[in-house]
Amino acid sequence: MTFRREIGWCVAQAYRLAGARRRAMARCRAPGVRLPVVFHDSAAEEVRGILAALRGVDLVLTFDDGWLEFEGVLKVLEEFDLRATVFIAPGETERGVVWTNSLMEAGVPDAEWHPWYALPAAERYALCDKRAPCVRRRLLTAEAVRAISRHPLVRIGNHTWSHLSCTHRPVDEVLDEVDRAQKTLAEWCGYAPTDFAYPFGRGTPELDAEIHRRGMTPHYTRQGLVTEATIGEARNMVYPGMTLAENLGRVLQAWPKVGETR
Ligand SMILES: [Zn+2]
Repeated sequence: MTFRREIGWCVAQAYRLAGARRRAMARCRAPGVRLPVVFHDSAAEEVRGILAALRGVDLVLTFDDGWLEFEGVLKVLEEFDLRATVFIAPGETERGVVWTNSLMEAGVPDAEWHPWYALPAAERYALCDKRAPCVRRRLLTAEAVRAISRHPLVRIGNHTWSHLSCTHRPVDEVLDEVDRAQKTLAEWCGYAPTDFAYPFGRGTPELDAEIHRRGMTPHYTRQGLVTEATIGEARNMVYPGMTLAENLGRVLQAWPKVGETR
């Protein structure tokens, strides 16, 4: 009897969720609505699953950091004929790793590495390499970024020079980095990016104004690693390793403000 009741409950939940998804899809397909979807290092197959499920929705696709996986993803974008913005931090592209991700993957607590923001870059990277020594090269090379930037479906965006949090440092230092990245990306791509994404989605209205003044639109995308603390924060972000149903649920629930990648 109990077993039957549980089956009944599961069926009811499945219907409820299917209904919620149908309603969310209908909202997303309404005229004038654009659904932002934020990716980081999702594999091509994961991206294909999401895009197939969201067929017919006007999507704004962004990919943060320029992970190696993007070369496979590009073929998927071609299949669906969809454009995407890829946010690049050229300093990290040259190093081949995003320093904070390697620390998080090694399980180094935030409290330990947050004070490193105050250190000169060479010292910071030395500490990082010591604490997370098994870092593999996981980012596109500068050469690959150059090639991808010329693809008709891709626009490269500015993601600062070093991918350090913009809210942990003096504004002048952050803006110097934004300008340095912009100069390098303009050389690599042959055009100056018009979009900017804050590392970790951490920005301020003051920085927003400065980014606008530089001819760019600021965006708030979020870090790609899921921890107990961050899950649920960036609801329009696709997490690698989660099921398609989980990711779709997140993306559709978020259904955020039109035209924003927050
Ligand atoms: Zn990033």
